[in-house]
Amino acid sequence: MDKIECPHCRRQCTPKLWHYRPVFGALRYMATQHLCPFCGGVMYQTGGQLSFFGWLVTLIVGSIFVVGLVAQLFKSKDITEVLTGIGSVVFWGFIAYKLYKRFWK
Ligand SMILES: [Zn+2]
Repeated sequence: MDKIECPHCRRQCTPKLWHYRPVFGALRYMATQHLCPFCGGVMYQTGGQLSFFGWLVTLIVGSIFVVGLVAQLFKSKDITEVLTGIGSVVFWGFIAYKLYKRFWK
């Protein structure tokens, strides 16, 4: 097995594998952390992607949210209300993107 350099202690080693269930585990595949046997640091991580079921749930929840919001916007005749609505969509989209980057990298 090839030895790689640990990014924490700079020693050449063969990583130990640690399988675990990531955040929102029901919706994702098992993740594997490659641990350094010398310092115990995480050298890199693989897996943990959204499973098919995870994508399905994300898609359904996402579309219910969007449809509900768009319906609210079209009910309103006030342009500032529509703009505020669009603003909050952008805001929550940004938050969702941040969460996505945090949990599903
Ligand atoms: Zn190390």
